[in-house]
Amino acid sequence: MTRLLFWIALVILVVMAVRSKVRAAMTRAQGPAAGPAPGAAGGEAKAWTRVADKPEAMACCAHCGIYFPSSEAVRADGRDYCGTAHAREAHQQAR
Ligand SMILES: [Zn+2]
Repeated sequence: MTRLLFWIALVILVVMAVRSKVRAAMTRAQGPAAGPAPGAAGGEAKAWTRVADKPEAMACCAHCGIYFPSSEAVRADGRDYCGTAHAREAHQQAR
């Protein structure tokens, strides 16, 4: 009788161990299944790298001296300004 209980306990332990291993394998499989998402994230990482590789040119406001992306520059009188307000102010002061 003790032997039977021992074997039952052993079988239960083996089943539990196998289940936990399968679960671990499933989560590992889901990790790579989420891998396509990291693959997409890799694309995002590439986009991020592209931005980092190509720093945007900076411009200096001729009125207040602040630096900002040159794509946002407001150009007036051949000078770059951080905004239309400073372009207008500088234009009025020049008069
Ligand atoms: Zn400014």
